Amino acid sequence: MEMIGHGGKEIIERVLAKDAALKRVEELKAAKVKTLDVRLQMATEILDIAYGFFSPLEGFMTKADVEAVCNNMTLADGKTVWSIPIVYDISSADLEKSGIKQYDEVLLTYTGNPFAIFDITDIFTLDTKEVAMKVYGTTEDKHPGVKRTYQYQDKFLGGKITLLNPPKINEPFTRFWLTPKQMRERFKEKGWEMIINHQTRNVPHTGHEWLMKGAYLGAYGSMMVDKPRGGILVNAMIGSKRPGDYIDEAIILCQEAQGKHGYFRDDIFLTTCTLWDMRYAGPKEAIFHACLRTNLGCTHHMFGRDHAGVGTYYDPYDAHRIFERLPKGSLNITPIFNLDWWFCPVCDEVTYMGLCGHKDKKASFSGTLIRSIIQDGVKPPRRIFRPEVFDMIMECAEKYGFGDAFVTEDYLKNRQPVFTIGPLK
Ligand SMILES: [Zn+2]
Repeated sequence: MEMIGHGGKEIIERVLAKDAALKRVEELKAAKVKTLDVRLQMATEILDIAYGFFSPLEGFMTKADVEAVCNNMTLADGKTVWSIPIVYDISSADLEKSGIKQYDEVLLTYTGNPFAIFDITDIFTLDTKEVAMKVYGTTEDKHPGVKRTYQYQDKFLGGKITLLNPPKINEPFTRFWLTPKQMRERFKEKGWEMIINHQTRNVPHTGHEWLMKGAYLGAYGSMMVDKPRGGILVNAMIGSKRPGDYIDEAIILCQEAQGKHGYFRDDIFLTTCTLWDMRYAGPKEAIFHACLRTNLGCTHHMFGRDHAGVGTYYDPYDAHRIFERLPKGSLNITPIFNLDWWFCPVCDEVTYMGLCGHKDKKASFSGTLIRSIIQDGVKPPRRIFRPEVFDMIMECAEKYGFGDAFVTEDYLKNRQPVFTIGPLK
């Protein structure tokens, strides 16, 4: 089956089979190669690189790549569209202590266990203020993506990654995490040729449900009922959380509940997750999401109002307009642009900015309104929240959220990690 990803290139998979990995670790230890223990942030991206979520990237970016991303929105080849730097940072002190030099092969460990091999081809510095301005359009550290950029340590290592030790994905995420290759196998089993991606970090209210339904109707209007050829892929971004975000468990299980309870036919709906720390880069992140979902095998990608934005840093439709600036044919996925969905008391239904003529009467699905509904815990009308979805939010709050559907300090400290890396044996 065809495994062509972003940039028209074969999906990268840099994962050693267990026997080969055990042998390599022995060799590396015998050769006394240097070791670095990575933090969660890096471990997440190492998995994304190794399984091809970031194809055609084979490792962490070199300086040439980062500069091309910032200046031209491409990789160093000048052709492949890429909008967010993927970098490995280290402090000068740690670098010196480790004795690591350019062209060294380094054994990376995570939580003390062998994890990956890092072939270092570049050691460099970056002007993080310049990176922030070029990627996020601001240098304010109130912007969470900028803050992350400023928190990077002062040196960066570029080079290829090879995974030695596959992750154990913990419950309830196990059945939702699929690698790009597995994802494509699943689409094949389902007989899907057209796949619309819905990016989410929310539990779905009916506004989201209709966003997906609208995209489905738009993209698949000509599809014969007896021969479904496509479906909606919900792909939740699971990664670093901020207090007040929905807890990851509620996001994924509530998304799934929409299919389980028939709001979407089972044969046109699939819920999955991908490990990624949101950067909230608005338009630049929209482009990144398009590349990522191309690698997952999607043919279409929905972009809603203020896609991947934060605060008032981006115009709500900047993430639509940026696609017009890309050279034709540089992305292998079709964007579907969504305007606003709202509840209209006159139409008496969930409706669309492009349809409803009662704009002044609309009731928006504002984050504040939805949040207060959930915090009250009183089941809202089914036009706002499907009762099964609402029940699942409450269940997740109890089971995973220490009593809260939103991220708290307690959750950040005590939640079970999404994945673990065990001993290699
Ligand atoms: Zn109306």
